[in-house]
Amino acid sequence: MPCLVETHEVANVARELADYNTYLSDIALVEAVAREGATHAHQALAAFGRLTGSADHIELGVAANRFPPELDTHDRFGHRVDLVRFHPAYHALMRTAIEHGLHSSPWTAPGPGAHVARAAHCYLHTQVEAGHGCPITMTFAAVPTLRTTPALAQAWEPGITARSYDPRNVPATEKAGLTIGMAMTEKQGGSDVRANTTHAYPVEGGGTGTAYELVGHKYFVSAPMSDAFLVLAQAPGGLSCFLLPRWRPDGGRNPMQLVRLKRKMGNVSNASSETELRGALAWMVGDEGRGVRTIIDMVALTRFDCVVGSAAGQRAAVAQALHHCSIRAAFGRVLNRQPLMANVLADLALEQEASLALAMRLAGALDRQADALEDLLVRMMTPVGKYWVCKRTPALTYEAMECIGGSGVMEDSPFPRLFRESPVNAIWEGSGNIQCLDVVRVMRRAPAAIDAVLRELDAAKGANADLDRSIAALVRELADESDLEHRARDLVERIALAFQASLLVRNAPAFVADAFCASRLAGAGHRNFGTLPRGVDCARILERATPRQDAAVGAR
Ligand SMILES: Cc1cc2nc3c(=O)[nH]c(=O)nc-3n(C[C@H](O)[C@H](O)[C@H](O)COP(=O)(O)OP(=O)(O)OC[C@H]3O[C@@H](n4cnc5c(N)ncnc54)[C@H](O)[C@@H]3O)c2cc1C
Repeated sequence: MPCLVETHEVANVARELADYNTYLSDIALVEAVAREGATHAHQALAAFGRLTGSADHIELGVAANRFPPELDTHDRFGHRVDLVRFHPAYHALMRTAIEHGLHSSPWTAPGPGAHVARAAHCYLHTQVEAGHGCPITMTFAAVPTLRTTPALAQAWEPGITARSYDPRNVPATEKAGLTIGMAMTEKQGGSDVRANTTHAYPVEGGGTGTAYELVGHKYFVSAPMSDAFLVLAQAPGGLSCFLLPRWRPDGGRNPMQLVRLKRKMGNVSNASSETELRGALAWMVGDEGRGVRTIIDMVALTRFDCVVGSAAGQRAAVAQALHHCSIRAAFGRVLNRQPLMANVLADLALEQEASLALAMRLAGALDRQADALEDLLVRMMTPVGKYWVCKRTPALTYEAMECIGGSGVMEDSPFPRLFRESPVNAIWEGSGNIQCLDVVRVMRRAPAAIDAVLRELDAAKGANADLDRSIAALVRELADESDLEHRARDLVERIALAFQASLLVRNAPAFVADAFCASRLAGAGHRNFGTLPRGVDCARILERATPRQDAAVGAR
């Protein structure tokens, strides 16, 4: 009897999608970056694409999620420490993000294309790992809110925008770089922050820039190892915004105590905590009683980053599906040449390209916000995009997983992580309904924003009959002011689809734009993925979207 019998040869299986250039092999991204004004960032993005496509960097994302953060509330002698410990891979991801300015570049080097270049970098890094993006986003987004109170901005902004990652839990004055978190949500109300019960007691008379003591709890505080937090609390004059550092100026710990870390289904590498504020010192940002108005600038940018992040999650999933199906064969043909699979893959690729186009158009509008029309577009399309792109991601991710077959469900595949991450962006920073209600608020308070959106759509008029019909129907729907809240999701979805279609019609190849319009705007609208109508050139869509690992796209 032989002692070792070969049972089979491993054949017809895919290989890792690694050691490739995630930027240069993403044609739609390269085009969007140029279109939205960030050509100057092309070389930097090409280098970042090589890094983020490398096997070593991809492995950091795996490890940061395999070994989740742990909380030590006390040291072994019984002293309170409130320390979150992370795997070195998480720190490596944070360091890469901060050293590349993903937390700050539009503030330190503003100018044409600054937001676009940053968004593209974030898009690439999120494909490696999404969880660390939370503190990166909050740090980035905190700056406009802090600037409402110049004395605080002067003290904190240099550390916040520095390109040094310094994870030590020591006072901010001793650190080379700072990160910022946000604490709004309480048990009795997240969307409705007016229900906050955390109280702020003035210690020096009260008012903008002065110190208060905060007493209460916060039910969700992500990145609790941040150096300071923007917090909402009830001051004598109403709900107000505060900057709460981890350390007090006298060198003592500020009593923002971590009760426990959340056990999350996704976003595992990122710590999210429940906290108690036991007289924590904090400084008022903006005017007393104007807390929501003050923090809304931060919230708007975190919502924008959710759009970018979900577009990135979609790309990560679709790239895996396209790659796998370009190698694996079944029933005598490589899967991407089986007509029905080609339909599914092309449909996924269309969805993803439309998400990217919307995200990058928003980034371009942020760069051009001095223009009133672009400003109105940001106001209207941020909640539209947050609702639509984030909400499309779980269905897309699941369908991409199915393209892999059974191995896609296994924990050693990237899909369980991508799938568990996929609903998060839709829920935090204002869930779906909240985004739609925000759109209704914009329509009522700033009707010029509707004109700004219609103007954008008009630019594509005449190029595609399905889009023309959709725009005409949308105009009728927007003119009808009855039952707006009841109809809000329907309205937002119509705006999102018409906006994405107009971007593709003007900028993408006709085989992409026409397929998108035919499948999303005509007939019964979009159903499950893989229902593209006859006549769509799936092969060309796949050729455009499939990531390439060869040297021609700078993989090595
Ligand atoms: C992983 C994770 C991390 C988080 N990190 C933070 C953090 O760092 N800081 C922070 O402050 N928060 C954080 N949150 C909290 C998050 O922002 C809230 O969970 C979210 O805003 C929703 O609030 P809620 O959970 O209280 O739900 P609710 O406000 O109770 O909402 C429940 C549902 O009701 C809907 N709804 C609410 N009002 C209306 C209405 N008027 N009409 C129709 N529908 C409505 C909502 O859309 C939602 O679907 C985090 C959440 C998660 C999941």
